[in-house]
Amino acid sequence: METVDYILVGQGVAGTHLGWEMQQAGLKIAVFDDGRADAASRLAAGIINPLSGRKFEVSWLYDLIYPLAVDTYRAMEAAMGISVFTERDIWNVWPSEQMRDAFTEYPSPYSENPAEPRYEAFLKAPYGAGIVKGANVDLATLLPAWASHIGARRETLEASEIRITDKGVEYRGLQARAVIFCEGVASPKNPWFGKLKFHPNKGEALIIRLPFDTKDIIKKGVTLVPMGDQTFWAGATFVWDYNNVEPTADARAQIESQLEQLLQVPYEVLSHKAAVRPAGPDRRPMAGLHPRIPQVGIFNGMGSKGCSLAPWAARKFVGNLLNGESIPPEIDIKRFFNALR
Ligand SMILES: Cc1cc2nc3c(=O)[nH]c(=O)nc-3n(C[C@H](O)[C@H](O)[C@H](O)COP(=O)(O)OP(=O)(O)OC[C@H]3O[C@@H](n4cnc5c(N)ncnc54)[C@H](O)[C@@H]3O)c2cc1C
Repeated sequence: METVDYILVGQGVAGTHLGWEMQQAGLKIAVFDDGRADAASRLAAGIINPLSGRKFEVSWLYDLIYPLAVDTYRAMEAAMGISVFTERDIWNVWPSEQMRDAFTEYPSPYSENPAEPRYEAFLKAPYGAGIVKGANVDLATLLPAWASHIGARRETLEASEIRITDKGVEYRGLQARAVIFCEGVASPKNPWFGKLKFHPNKGEALIIRLPFDTKDIIKKGVTLVPMGDQTFWAGATFVWDYNNVEPTADARAQIESQLEQLLQVPYEVLSHKAAVRPAGPDRRPMAGLHPRIPQVGIFNGMGSKGCSLAPWAARKFVGNLLNGESIPPEIDIKRFFNALR
């Protein structure tokens, strides 16, 4: 029987960060990922945006989680010899005078008014633009690099074959202290965590070609994230009610309409993809071992902010597993079990 400390199920953004933190802490892990094409992490543009809403409020815990995320991505880059984390200006093109004025009215350490215009030949920007200091993570490089770094098993873990023992769990010749499910939108079918409330939402994006290149993220309704060679990620839609995870004509029309409002140059659509964001009812991560069956745990609920939340939440979870440190109550899975009682 092969022995590891933990078995991780799923290697999207959540499983990658949890595995990274475990490995940094000296734990031995076995990771299973079946590479579902519609997993959120395979479509996400990896944007980290510090501000949201009409008052440009700083996101929840941002001052704490962003520096930790930067350090984590830099350490991952060094360990794997990759380049995945880029700090970028988010060039917000204002849709109205009100938004332009609100940006000045609600200043933050992450916002600034531009000294000079940009993209005058390419964008329609009658109300000007503002700069937000953000970043993005190249998940299409990070996820496969981490998979090969740790030798992730490209297969489905069948939860029905997990045997809970006094010492932990056994699964097809593997034994571990616990199995942690980082399975994204598959969690509602999980035998131990399926009763928790999940509020997944569907998002669609286009990959387009434009006749210019930039390092900036450009945003006005639609967000454009540069992928190199004049190729951009353009998205995303946000829908609670959906029947399947296929790309839809409605979403494409919505994104194209936003592109028409933003661009004064032609664009070419190269592809159109859809995925589902795994989210809980309070839009906070879910981390922890099952309160009654500590041989199983969950790391999920990253919603639309996996790239900034997962590094911090994973560190908290591993601190709990290794040293018994408490998981912040806002992300502790116990908050849902208390509600289920
Ligand atoms: C259109 C769109 C745009 C987004 N943009 C951003 C963004 O710009 N910035 C940001 O931070 N976030 C963004 N997000 C959100 C982000 O994608 C999620 O927060 C994050 O990817 C969730 O990661 P996860 O690992 O929890 O889930 P997932 O990405 O769904 O990963 C789960 C993994 O588990 C595997 N799996 C499941 N069950 C099993 C099993 N039994 N055995 C083996 N493997 C299994 C799946 O194959 C999958 O690889 C976006 C999401 C969408 C849909």
